[in-house]
Amino acid sequence: MKLTEEDCLSCGLCCFFGILTAGKKWQGIEIGDDGWCRFYDPEEKCTIHEERPEVCREFKTGCPECIDLIEKKLQGWFDSK
Ligand code: SF4
Ligand code: SF4
Repeated sequence: MKLTEEDCLSCGLCCFFGILTAGKKWQGIEIGDDGWCRFYDPEEKCTIHEERPEVCREFKTGCPECIDLIEKKLQGWFDSK
């Protein structure tokens, strides 16, 4: 699967940092009790897009982590959580 920035599905899965940050240090992110970034809104998506942390800017559509999240979603992995 090859995705470019323009192909972002806006699925917001990269904002589900309870999963993505396991074992990693991601600074500038606040995680809610549900595992989603507190700045993520299902309708609006990132509510601080202009001021989002560097770590979010570095995460590119189509990067291995992005593909992994999308594949997990397609496999129904999130539905079983
Ligand atoms: S700050 Fe924005 S882009 Fe970064 S994880 Fe939160 S909602 Fe997603
Ligand atoms: S996981 Fe990938 S496709 Fe989904 S919102 Fe993030 S960058 Fe876009």
